[in-house]
Amino acid sequence: MAERLVVIGGDAAGMSAASQARRRRSADDLSIVAFERGRFTSYSACGIPYWVGGLVDDRDDLISRAPAVFRDDYDIDVRTRHEVVDIDLERREVVAVALDEGRREVREPFDQLVYAIGAVPVQPPWATSGVSGVFGVQTLDDGDALHAWLDREPTPKRAVVVGGGYIGVEMAEAMVNRGLAVTLVERGPQPMSTVDPDMGALVTDRLRALGIDIRTGLAVTGLDHSDGVVTAVRTDDEPIPADIVVLGLGIKPNTTLARTAGLPLGPTGGIRVDLRMRVVGRPGVWAAGDCVESVHRVSGQPVHLPLGTHANKQGRVAGINIGGGYATFPGVIGTAVTRVCDLEVARTGLLSTEADAAGFSFVTATVESTNRAGYFPGADFMTIKLLAERGTGRLLGAQIVGRSEAAKRIDPLAVALWNNMTVEEMVGLDLGYAPPYAPVWDPVLIAARKAVDALGVK
Ligand SMILES: Cc1cc2nc3c(=O)[nH]c(=O)nc-3n(C[C@H](O)[C@H](O)[C@H](O)COP(=O)(O)OP(=O)(O)OC[C@H]3O[C@@H](n4cnc5c(N)ncnc54)[C@H](O)[C@@H]3O)c2cc1C
Repeated sequence: MAERLVVIGGDAAGMSAASQARRRRSADDLSIVAFERGRFTSYSACGIPYWVGGLVDDRDDLISRAPAVFRDDYDIDVRTRHEVVDIDLERREVVAVALDEGRREVREPFDQLVYAIGAVPVQPPWATSGVSGVFGVQTLDDGDALHAWLDREPTPKRAVVVGGGYIGVEMAEAMVNRGLAVTLVERGPQPMSTVDPDMGALVTDRLRALGIDIRTGLAVTGLDHSDGVVTAVRTDDEPIPADIVVLGLGIKPNTTLARTAGLPLGPTGGIRVDLRMRVVGRPGVWAAGDCVESVHRVSGQPVHLPLGTHANKQGRVAGINIGGGYATFPGVIGTAVTRVCDLEVARTGLLSTEADAAGFSFVTATVESTNRAGYFPGADFMTIKLLAERGTGRLLGAQIVGRSEAAKRIDPLAVALWNNMTVEEMVGLDLGYAPPYAPVWDPVLIAARKAVDALGVK
């Protein structure tokens, strides 16, 4: 009889695991059932802001593999609109309900289980009070609901985006692109706390210049509505009128089922897994994606960094191991890029506060440069900030804010950081140069030189 694999969660991590396992083991050897609460599988949540904002025309372009493809081409029994409500580790079965069949109960036995149900958005009580016109963007079903609302409503004029993380600013851009007047409300001192305050200030300036009304240091406390339709967000200052409210208040690992089933959680709230993505102390149970915690390679600390890039890799690692191969997930360094209108923001490694908290003594170096030779048409600014450890000179972190392909310059910095390079070694890196692509001293190299100066290295 075939071994039985059950996957919970049909997106990046879950379906990567399922397809990798299938590549290595035939259906006679391993049967695979995947439960997904929504209607879609293997979709790009990352693309939702661009589809909602009109940069991507067709929602289906965000779906890399539909349920039918998994069924027909991969022999994976995908059950969409099935919500798993319990995991019984002793009986080794999951309990799901079929959402379109009056919550009919389904019990599915397993030998191997992959837990990949992502993260849940932080939602204060006012966000779930049933007032319409309030949207999250966690899943493609959420994005679908928001897109349909924007298409349907004849005259939405004012959008309030609550939360200034990267999803908040991407959604602010989407609302600007849909022609709405946008207010971004952030409880902290400025949006984009994923970079140091001096770099975040550059983002705030640009968002304001684009006409986005940024309200910082302000907490949303409730909603005003008329006949159940939102009309304003209440704050601890004055209310802000709103025809639509988009939530970007952060996320946390989706561990409700894990907790009940007794899976171990780490200090970040994510599920504890080993290098092979096995849940610690639970044989035959695997977890991957936004629901797990990872190890930060620079600080050595556990972190919860919910990104698609990690979810895909972790799912792949789990799938290879389930398939009989050997693979490990090497940890994260916190590389992330985003864009809001024409401004790009990138980071890798530790921020100043994180480096402090980890106990490092370090210097910082910030440089202004351009993406091309200064005389070349289209030359545009960028600011790069580096953190380097005192004593060793090791690169600890890097941040970039700029325009025109500035963000992807984070990649050589991420590679340098991953490989423990010192900023002195980086000065000699053989990076490509021609006037359409870089100044003769690439901004990355200029920043490394400045960091060397800051360290006082001769
Ligand atoms: C708007 C937005 C933009 C983003 N942009 C980027 C980006 O630019 N770069 C980047 O790296 N990352 C980005 N991300 C993050 C990225 O999308 C996630 O890290 C990734 O999708 C996580 O994959 P996952 O498989 O762990 O979880 P998810 O993609 O959340 O998938 C989990 C699945 O489990 C299903 N599920 C939940 N509970 C149950 C249940 N009880 N039973 C059955 N199914 C269940 C859900 O419906 C969901 O489909 C973005 C996310 C969002 C929301």
